[in-house]
Amino acid sequence: MKEFKTYIGGEWVSTNKTIDVIDKYSGEVIAKVPKADKKLVDKAVDAAAEAFEEFKKMPAYQRSEILEKAADLIKERSDEIAETICREAGKAWKYSVGEVNRGFETFKFASEEAKRIHGETVPMDASAGGVGRVGYYIRVPMGVLGAITPFNFPLNLVAHKVAPAIASGNTIVLKPASSTPITALILAEILEEAGLPKGVFNVVIGPGGEVGESLVTNDKVRKITFTGSAKVGHRLTQIAGIKRITLELGNNSATIIEKDADIDKAIPRCVDSAFANSGQVCISLQRIYVHKDIADEFTEKFAEATKKLKVGNPVEKDTDLGPMIDENEAKRAEEWIKEAVNMGAELVVGGKREGRVLQPTVLRNTTKDMRVMCMEVFAPIVSIVEYDTFEDAIQHVNDSDYGLQAGIYTNDIRKIHYAIDNLDVGGVMINDTSIFRVDHMPYGGNKMSGIGREGVRFAIEEMTNIKMVMINLN
Ligand code: NAP
Repeated sequence: MKEFKTYIGGEWVSTNKTIDVIDKYSGEVIAKVPKADKKLVDKAVDAAAEAFEEFKKMPAYQRSEILEKAADLIKERSDEIAETICREAGKAWKYSVGEVNRGFETFKFASEEAKRIHGETVPMDASAGGVGRVGYYIRVPMGVLGAITPFNFPLNLVAHKVAPAIASGNTIVLKPASSTPITALILAEILEEAGLPKGVFNVVIGPGGEVGESLVTNDKVRKITFTGSAKVGHRLTQIAGIKRITLELGNNSATIIEKDADIDKAIPRCVDSAFANSGQVCISLQRIYVHKDIADEFTEKFAEATKKLKVGNPVEKDTDLGPMIDENEAKRAEEWIKEAVNMGAELVVGGKREGRVLQPTVLRNTTKDMRVMCMEVFAPIVSIVEYDTFEDAIQHVNDSDYGLQAGIYTNDIRKIHYAIDNLDVGGVMINDTSIFRVDHMPYGGNKMSGIGREGVRFAIEEMTNIKMVMINLN
């Protein structure tokens, strides 16, 4: 068991109260971290505001160097970080390693993007009033950013906020998820070693309702960047006041399998997309719409592949699925399965729970009024639903309060374009599932899935203000 300090104003500090961090598989307490309160949040924001006055002047090449050094240090400490993610988030080892590699890349992309933040000229003489004037705009950092992150990617979703913020000359106060704070503290060690000036990055740990809301309502914070549930996202829009806000929220992601699809390629990818990280990914595959002519074959092969998954301790290198984040969440998911079955769904595979571990579960004959279909399931549960025409399938995908990403398997160019034109989502993945993401692409959702986009360059746009310059030569 390790006792951590938290990082504020470039100092490592303790507090009176601590939070236990638990190994999500064994239940063992693996660390104690300092619990913040409103006073400490205000102190962290003050430190970030003070640091901004100097940091905004740091040349781009120096910010880039710090980010590159941080990326290298993530790589050097990759085993330690992967083990931390594996234990504090319960994420299977292979996916924890994958997350560290992505965190490295996110910092690398940010070190590159730091060198190309620029505005453009404005043709002033397009208006009679602008003749004889030169106009251009530049992008400038906003100031203190408040970042709030979820449990499911304790490194890479923190990286998606912290790295673009540093790249663009902002300072940050981070509130990581209370259940997975250790990785964020390791990142603070890394950024300190990489030469980030004191006060640019600060970490406050504690319950969302208290610590998170203190950050969101602090008037010195210029922007909130939040990743988490739609429920909390909605609350933040009500309390933030006049601040820019980026919300990366949930989804009940769908993928369509047309009858011309190569299902032997699609099935392993769909299985992985449904059950990676025990289905606790914002773009986890939750609804699979399969053309009626191939639905039996698809379901049979999908069920076979699901039965082969190894469920158990995430630290074992060949484990496919570990536990869910907590037992209440696993119980909630089990309840939703029972409800679906009571309402007429067929349980094809799984459905059993032991503590935090829910077996990968495949349902068929589900309908849109069941919670496993219409709400974000965020658990290893997937529904296979038959459809008749491709147009129907597109409508089913859109029949959702959410709109983050969707996938389609087909080689028919007309159907592909029909889907691109008609799906109300932030990303359409052709011949892949909803889960595809690399860290430099624009990423974010429509409808209840959020506001704004991440993906380093796009996050930088949301973390900078446009400043217009006009020079009168008349
Ligand atoms: P969550 O319950 O919404 O929590 C996310 C963060 O918000 C945590 O740090 C939490 O703190 C904090 N929080 C809770 N209540 C708050 C409040 N009233 N004010 C300020 N902060 C508050 O979400 P989660 O269970 O950790 O993560 C799962 C959700 O995140 C899913 O809906 C998933 O789809 C979404 N997600 C979206 C993306 C994306 O990029 N679109 C990526 C990953 C996950 P505590 O930990 O202390 O509760």
